[in-house]
Amino acid sequence: MHTPIQLVYQNSNNIYFKREDLISFSFGGNKARKALYFFKEIERLGCDCVVTYGSSSSNHCRVVANLAASRNIPCYIIGPEEASGETFNSAMMHLFNAQFQIVTINQVHDTIEKTLALLKAEGKNPYFIEGGGHGNLGTQAYLDCYTEILEYERSNAVHFDYIFFASGTGTTHAGLVSGQLLNKDDRKIIGISIARKNPRGRQVVIDSIKSFLESKGIEISEENISRTTIFLDQYTAEGYASSNSYINETIKTVLIETGIPLDSTYTGKAYAAMMDVIKKQQIVNKNILFIHTGGTPLFFDYLQRFWTFQI
Ligand SMILES: *Cc1c(COP(=O)(O)O)cnc(C)c1O
Repeated sequence: MHTPIQLVYQNSNNIYFKREDLISFSFGGNKARKALYFFKEIERLGCDCVVTYGSSSSNHCRVVANLAASRNIPCYIIGPEEASGETFNSAMMHLFNAQFQIVTINQVHDTIEKTLALLKAEGKNPYFIEGGGHGNLGTQAYLDCYTEILEYERSNAVHFDYIFFASGTGTTHAGLVSGQLLNKDDRKIIGISIARKNPRGRQVVIDSIKSFLESKGIEISEENISRTTIFLDQYTAEGYASSNSYINETIKTVLIETGIPLDSTYTGKAYAAMMDVIKKQQIVNKNILFIHTGGTPLFFDYLQRFWTFQI
């Protein structure tokens, strides 16, 4: 899987986008890259149904439901009642005939356990995917994405001084930082938190990296991992799926100037934050890579929520 890297802005810095949103399955995005790895594993293990969880706006659940439908296996989604309003993603999950169980957020864990036990009791062989495609396979997917970035740098004689992106469950972040550590690359990889706060947010990324490296039998000191993991938590606005006028205006500007859609939950929030970091830290004459992690259906939710002109 190779997604394009494009030079999108040339101003006081060169700003490139890696277009993960153009992955060619179900509107792409980082959830598509990760889910394709999980479905390879599902095939390898011969599992006959899949269980996962996430909110109604989850890109992960949409992609998993689409992959399951394409392979004609049932998909069970457990969702928190607190985030169950209809979105373009949830409309697609219905279209794919995913089986929903909407429960209060503190019942999610038990409901997953019960669902898995019930399926096994029926003689099924379910595969469980953590929310957001979290876990070592998801980390591997973004280590491989990092390798693509290195290949681009080599064949285009460019070095990215910074890599920015939206960090949620921390899996994308963990894969990219693992790549940096394994290659001993000199650059700053900056995850913009879209919801979680420090110290927990950053610790989840560090734990994911440790778990991944351990599974590969690779030893890198905790101190080195910690030094390399940059997780900024001051751009979360009012938390998950919240936006503000700065984010909304940034999305509008980028769409007009470049034709690239961002959304207010992930990519727009991270892009707006990146612009602020560049300004505040007075970063100039650098090559900066923004990873467009996808979430295109959320662009339409943004459009509906904030620009409800006459449709
Ligand atoms: C889930 C998601 C993220 C965050 O990725 P994680 O690996 O969960 O940190 C970023 N952007 C989009 C569009 C997403 O759907």
